[in-house]
Amino acid sequence: MYCKNCGEPMHENQAICIKCGVKVGKGTNFCANCGASLPSGADVCMNCGVAVKKPGSDLAGQDKIVMILVCLFLGGLGIHNFIMGETKKGIFKIIMSFCCGIGEILALIDLVRIAMDTYVVNPEKLI
Ligand SMILES: [Zn+2]
Ligand SMILES: [Zn+2]
Repeated sequence: MYCKNCGEPMHENQAICIKCGVKVGKGTNFCANCGASLPSGADVCMNCGVAVKKPGSDLAGQDKIVMILVCLFLGGLGIHNFIMGETKKGIFKIIMSFCCGIGEILALIDLVRIAMDTYVVNPEKLI
């Protein structure tokens, strides 16, 4: 196993990388299977063929629990979207909150998706 952030070899039972201090599984720079450096946005490692992203949810490397809490308390303002790099979605939520008051409802949908591990970050979408 290799650190996905800096490519340093790690033991299977290590919780964080000793070299860069990043949690295991965080980062997208290196393949966790072979340690090869990855181009940004790669889905599969071109060196060993292992899938880089886990199937299911993609929270842009953010912690699930943190995102649920942010979503719960600040979701209507799209704060969780901004944190995950979804600027369009965040702005859309703010507008919806002020115009129709449904920003919170949209945030609730996000919250459920995050909790169910089906949330996938997509900066191009509005909802
Ligand atoms: Zn590291
Ligand atoms: Zn690889």
